[in-house]
Amino acid sequence: MALDSNIPSGPVEKKWETHKFESKLINPANKRKYDIIIVGSGLAGGAAAASLGELGYKVKCFCYQDSPRRAHSIAAQGGINAAKNYQNDGDSVFRLFYDTVKGGDFRAREANVYRLAEVSANIIDQCVAQGVPLAREYGGLLANRSFGGAQVSRTFYARGQTGQQLLLGAYSALNRQIAAGTVEMFPRTEMLDLIIVDGHAKGIVVRDMITGKISTHIADCVVLGTGGYGNVFYLSTNAKGCNVTATWRAHKKGAFFANPCYTQIHPTCIPVAGDYQSKLTLMSESLRNDGRVWVPKRKEDCGKVPKEIPEDARDYYLERKYPSYGNLAPRDISSRSAKEVCDDGRGVGPGGLGVYLDFADAIKRLGKHVIEERYGNLFEMYHNITGEDAYERPMRIYPAVHYTMGGLWVDYNLMSNVPGLHVLGEANFSDHGANRLGASALMQGLADGYFVLPNTLGTYMASQFGKKVDANAPAFKEAVDSVKARVQKLISIKGTRSVDSFHRELGKLLWDKCGMARDKKGLEEALRKIPKLREEFWSNLKILGTADGINMELERAGRVADFLEFGELMCLDALNRNESCGGHFRTEYQTPEGEALRDDEHYDYVAAWKYEGDSVPPTLVKEPLVYEEVKLATRSYK
Ligand SMILES: Cc1cc2nc3c(=O)[nH]c(=O)nc-3n(C[C@H](O)[C@H](O)[C@H](O)COP(=O)(O)OP(=O)(O)OC[C@H]3O[C@@H](n4cnc5c(N)ncnc54)[C@H](O)[C@@H]3O)c2cc1C
Repeated sequence: MALDSNIPSGPVEKKWETHKFESKLINPANKRKYDIIIVGSGLAGGAAAASLGELGYKVKCFCYQDSPRRAHSIAAQGGINAAKNYQNDGDSVFRLFYDTVKGGDFRAREANVYRLAEVSANIIDQCVAQGVPLAREYGGLLANRSFGGAQVSRTFYARGQTGQQLLLGAYSALNRQIAAGTVEMFPRTEMLDLIIVDGHAKGIVVRDMITGKISTHIADCVVLGTGGYGNVFYLSTNAKGCNVTATWRAHKKGAFFANPCYTQIHPTCIPVAGDYQSKLTLMSESLRNDGRVWVPKRKEDCGKVPKEIPEDARDYYLERKYPSYGNLAPRDISSRSAKEVCDDGRGVGPGGLGVYLDFADAIKRLGKHVIEERYGNLFEMYHNITGEDAYERPMRIYPAVHYTMGGLWVDYNLMSNVPGLHVLGEANFSDHGANRLGASALMQGLADGYFVLPNTLGTYMASQFGKKVDANAPAFKEAVDSVKARVQKLISIKGTRSVDSFHRELGKLLWDKCGMARDKKGLEEALRKIPKLREEFWSNLKILGTADGINMELERAGRVADFLEFGELMCLDALNRNESCGGHFRTEYQTPEGEALRDDEHYDYVAAWKYEGDSVPPTLVKEPLVYEEVKLATRSYK
């Protein structure tokens, strides 16, 4: 089976312009005849709902939070990239494109990444027009800072709350459409299945999380902007609600899941503090602009107060190993280096699982007030969680699960292999290859929602003109019956173990065997253990209460049931990829210096998995990656 990525022909810098011109348009008077379902109201889904509503389509937008403005996107801290070159430091669309392809370890689709870099500048204009308070220089120009994997300053930010401010912008645009009647919003409503009619995505099954009522919604197409699956690991920096259900349900209805093993471990998170912790907290990558990462050179010094360790007894290992990029080496590389020094017994803090992020030099150079102005809210958050004052002693940080590069496979139009099913933002696999550079997730989500989908959707919609589906089609009843049966099955197990205990066990297994480092033996072990855990889940789960109203245990159980299936696909994908690339580090494949060793000859492809049935192994479908603009090279940040 071949996958058609629908990449337009012609030179990379002309592809998007040509494609937009060649895409079908829908006459304004006809747009209101089309219904669109958008699941997700984060930056990707929210931006898409606002833009498609503004265009005149009839949009229904769903989210499980009580308000669109509580989507996980609100947590984003450090910034959003754009090739504006305000700093006159040599940035360009091509450089952002190149940095992103290289940052992703040459496992992303060139044409998509180029388009992303191209529209990045429009995003900033759009957000400023909405009134998003991005940081400014003294003279009024928008300010920039640097993020990992780049030697230019192209990251726009609003203190350490960039996601919140961008989401408020998208939320305002969305509310304008809600008031205008083009968007109908369904908060506290969880999508539990996708409905396919004659091979096309035409509706969803949802559960009202307040009343427990299960119902269907019909549309001409379905858009998923449902975020990433990092919470499969239980402990992550993601909001507690983030889950894989929407994309996994779509996968089981035919959508291919691409590169599920590509997860990002972020180097600067507050270390785990205890066995019963349920959430991890990120300390933004932006801190690495001014903070210096180090550990003691000698194991004996690890227990000392950091101030008492003299300069020459400190190992600033990122600056030592990667002199050009220093503390701004990309995330995968920085995380692995932190693990390496901790494995070497030189980690600091409880259990030796921590490294220092030190602001003493920056405070001396710039003054405390500047650091406070740039990162004040992050220092406050750190203080609230650890009780330590990071102005006085270095922060302790350690890598943690943060983002997922894998997701549903989409073509250049952001449409999955299921006609009509479009996927945006972190939920798709599209632009980041095997490692995402900092500040590029917000860029991708907003590019997809504000600029890409509104242009590419027309072609599919035009093909559906006058083809409304019948609400009495058997697919609708079948989907509702099967969702009801599943909910009932979960609630009637009446075993002895809580949902969280299963989730925690799965997460620990995945972190140990399919986390920052993986190998064949460990992955095989995880593949043996996950089905057993799943079996126990379905026979020994305990959920209190009923399905007829608010029941958070039931909601979580449905999501963990999906994680228990998805986790297996992750391990299978990691086992199949006999190479190391970006965030996928197979210990068997590394250079003598411990860097990721790719195998371009055999693995330069997108691994898209086709669901074949509950007890049948999935089929691997490959989309070969073709590089015309950049030369495949071993990544170097030295
Ligand atoms: C702590 C933290 C800091 C970050 N900082 C940055 C940063 O500085 N810069 C950057 O570029 N990136 C950052 N990221 C990554 C970035 O925030 C996310 O990748 C991005 O916000 C994802 O946006 P999204 O719209 O795709 O999904 P989300 O914001 O996760 O939105 C998902 C939406 O889907 C809905 N949904 C999901 N499933 C269902 C369902 N079954 N039924 C109904 N609704 C559903 C949810 O309700 C929600 O509305 C950060 C991530 C974290 C965790």
